Amino acid sequence: MKIIMLGAPGAGKGTQADKICAKYNIPHISTGDIFRANIKNNTELGQKAKSYMDKGLLVPDELVVDLVVDRVKADDCKNGYVLDGFPRTIPQAEALDKALEASGDKVDYAINVEVPDENIISRMSGRRACIACGATYHIVHIPTKVEGICDKCGAELVLRDDDKPETVKKRLDVYHEQTQPLIDYYTKKGVLNEVDGTKDMEEVFGAIVKILGA
Ligand code: ADP
Ligand code: AMP
Repeated sequence: MKIIMLGAPGAGKGTQADKICAKYNIPHISTGDIFRANIKNNTELGQKAKSYMDKGLLVPDELVVDLVVDRVKADDCKNGYVLDGFPRTIPQAEALDKALEASGDKVDYAINVEVPDENIISRMSGRRACIACGATYHIVHIPTKVEGICDKCGAELVLRDDDKPETVKKRLDVYHEQTQPLIDYYTKKGVLNEVDGTKDMEEVFGAIVKILGA
């Protein structure tokens, strides 16, 4: 089961990807998490990526594509995976398709989590992220048991630098310009599925499980 999560920044892709991966026992591959881990470890990739991320821009395709194409060849991806935050441009989608085709594979489901721009800013300002394990919470909608502490691993949560309102506005512009065209791309491939991301987290997940089948 090879699944791609589409949607605006803050639509709930990561939240739903986590739940899909737990239910179907497949890995969650988030390019944003990979970059944040690299920034935390101060790698060369992290330093390069940070300069784009802090401005709300996409990291250039050449820094992302090989990383993902290599990652999906790993042993733990044999039964499928959820790609969260990749592809984000048409060239990324084409590169992924080409790599999959080479091994007789294809994307099985592209799931577009639909949330209007009006809802996104408040979602992002309330988002709290765990850089240690990648878990995501919301101070109002999806609170932790202990304020500021990750339920899953006990690490301290942070407000992401790129979740500040002015950066979020830029990220939304970039999304509409560069990532939204992927909806058309995957519609033409016959694998696009839409879910209403404004609903409660469990309701959204229910809709996704229906698409994927029990
Ligand atoms: P994305 O991965 O698309 O950027 P996230 O999964 O990180 O988005 O979700 C963005 C924010 O919205 C987080 O704070 C998350 O806890 C919260 N969130 C996710 N799904 C829902 C939902 N269905 N209703 C309300 N808040 C949600
Ligand atoms: P995310 O955690 O998915 O919201 O990603 C955070 C940031 O990382 C984005 O705003 C981009 O700057 C960068 N990023 C993540 N995935 C990609 C990608 N596939 N292509 C380009 N940039 C990306």
